[in-house]
Amino acid sequence: MATEEQVKHSPAVFDTEAAEGLLKELRATVNTGKTKSYEWRQSQLKNLLKMIESSEKQICEALFSDLSKPELESFVHEIAMIKTSCKLALKKLKDWMKPEKASTNLGTFPSSAEIVSEPLGVVLVISAWNYPILLSVDPVIGAIAAGNAVVLKPSEISPATSLLLAKLFGEFMDNSAIKVVEGAVRETTVLLEQKWDKIFYTGNGRVARVVMAAAAKHLTPVSLELGGKSPVLVDSDIDLTVTARRIVSGKWGCNNGQACVSPDYIITTKDYAPALIDSLKDQLFKFYGEDPLKSKDISRVVSSNHFARLTKLLDDDRVSEKIILGGLTDKSSLKIAPTIVLDPPEDSLIMNEEIFGPLLPIVTIEKIEDGIEFINSKAKPLAAYLFTNKKQLKEKFVSNISAGAVVINDVTLHLMVNTLPFGGVGESGIGAYHGKFSFDAFSHKKAVLYRGFFGDAPARYPPYTPGKLRLLKALLDGSILGIFRAIFGRS
Ligand code: NAD
Repeated sequence: MATEEQVKHSPAVFDTEAAEGLLKELRATVNTGKTKSYEWRQSQLKNLLKMIESSEKQICEALFSDLSKPELESFVHEIAMIKTSCKLALKKLKDWMKPEKASTNLGTFPSSAEIVSEPLGVVLVISAWNYPILLSVDPVIGAIAAGNAVVLKPSEISPATSLLLAKLFGEFMDNSAIKVVEGAVRETTVLLEQKWDKIFYTGNGRVARVVMAAAAKHLTPVSLELGGKSPVLVDSDIDLTVTARRIVSGKWGCNNGQACVSPDYIITTKDYAPALIDSLKDQLFKFYGEDPLKSKDISRVVSSNHFARLTKLLDDDRVSEKIILGGLTDKSSLKIAPTIVLDPPEDSLIMNEEIFGPLLPIVTIEKIEDGIEFINSKAKPLAAYLFTNKKQLKEKFVSNISAGAVVINDVTLHLMVNTLPFGGVGESGIGAYHGKFSFDAFSHKKAVLYRGFFGDAPARYPPYTPGKLRLLKALLDGSILGIFRAIFGRS
């Protein structure tokens, strides 16, 4: 919950005039060419790494204040992830910046070609509250590596982290090109009125539509990192203990389910459900003890609004009568115990809205293959998980499920693999980032073709003749024989 210091802290009024001034200042910096240089990008990434390394304690305190996030989760899921991402960018920056050779063809012979990654210009990063350090800083790493000026707008729902980011960016980063604007809907609306060269938004689909509509006015490209209901299909030929441990850890051990890639619901067969439920209960007891509301190893719900949103999902009698574990809540501490609901009605809110919290429905089906049909009847999720040992089922799942990512026999871990793109598809998002994909998300891929003055084929110029047409057709078809015929045959 917000401390007295945060409540007292009120960022200076940020209106249209302030936003215009900010953009003007950052454009002036970009126009000097400073942010394009390797040296500037490297120095800013180094500063950023130093900023995180020297502030680990403050970061953990801010995350505890905003979410009661356990220190281990703060370190592993936010601090360590940022450090890895920043170190990778520093290591690979020169490679990423190098133009990429492209092949040419007979139609442009003789020529050479390359793809040059150029910065987009001044970019806006709007981030969400659940991983407020990671989701703010990680896109900024990509924006800097690609040579852009950047404005970060952290989430007002995590005020301690927002305040800390504003302070740290002010102290460590080049403020003529990298700024933090704190604020809520009003400030974000003012920012969105401006013409940016890219908007990178993390959050829910409703606001994503507001962001995209604002971007459309200026033809600004967007990356939209959204969420959805990420399903877990559990077969019966698995290592049950390992499966239950991984699901419990990916659900409640990731910010108490307030993670975009947390398992949203489980699907398993009617026959196997009792064994799986017993094992999930067993693991929950081992992790969080008899009274999980008192456990220090589990985050709280971020705000009273989200607490009300989550308890509303259980208010439906048809759902509450299906609770087989948990259901306890404590409004004063914003805590909800890990809760499992067996077979809630398909038309209930809990089965239709992203849960984003500690509630886990289990849906039972007759045959495991029916799970694929069930998942495909819903919006495309950010992640889809499968636990099985069957090769055929794995293949079927990978080729038939459209999702931002698919993970077999684990949950959430794909986001630690920075050689994989991280992003959604359909309702779960547009675009991707992490590792080199972050650099690409903030770069324009400029096509460059080089030619000399030798070998200027007269066939492309008027007056057009049937012979020239034959030659060009052969050239563009890549037919060596046709070219010989056109040159040495009848004209
Ligand atoms: P949030 O409430 O922090 O909102 C996100 C940002 O949008 C904030 O900076 C906020 O100030 C801004 N915003 C809110 N209303 C706005 C409006 N009307 N106009 C302009 N800006 C506005 O976060 P949230 O939306 O509650 O985040 C949770 C959602 O984000 C979930 O759906 C989750 O799955 C998704 N998410 C996705 C990822 C990912 O990487 N794909 C990561 C985290 C969260």
